[in-house]
Amino acid sequence: MATPPKLVSLRGSGLRVWNYYWHFRHELKMSEDELREVGIEGDDLFIRPEVIGPLKEADAKFREHGYELIVKDAYRSPELYELAYRRRHAVYGQAATDRLYNMRDRPHMSGLVVDVNLVDPETGEQVKMRNPKHDDEGAQTIGFYKGKQDPVSREYERLQDLLIEVMLSVGFKLGVKREFWHFEYPVE
Ligand SMILES: [Zn+2]
Repeated sequence: MATPPKLVSLRGSGLRVWNYYWHFRHELKMSEDELREVGIEGDDLFIRPEVIGPLKEADAKFREHGYELIVKDAYRSPELYELAYRRRHAVYGQAATDRLYNMRDRPHMSGLVVDVNLVDPETGEQVKMRNPKHDDEGAQTIGFYKGKQDPVSREYERLQDLLIEVMLSVGFKLGVKREFWHFEYPVE
């Protein structure tokens, strides 16, 4: 698939890149061929060049806190949106898919939107900021762990607050679905 001209690869940008769809292809029941057809192959992501500077700025700030930024999703083609929606629907059901998957606005098609996480540079592991067992109760949404007193919940909240604070400080905005990992860079 041809890359739309406004986009550049994040591979080689110096930022950590991890392609969500590629890693979850078995769970999402997507074959490698299907993913290649919608522009996905291995750990690479495409993005508008204006977003790379702010991502690097955020990464530098996270390093001051002992973490590194990792980008897990960026540009999605219309074909990827369609494929991922159909498969999520089949695997997770309609309610779970529609709660988070924004098919109306399709924000990732802009090339200005990222889904990110933090990495512990000592272990190279992504940092856990929620328990997926709580997803049916809405753990993907900002503020889910707020007010919970157990140490694990408090740590999740601390990490989510750090992620959001730094991303907003370099110019990103939150999305309408209020996921704590999803950030949109306003241009124009
Ligand atoms: Zn997103």
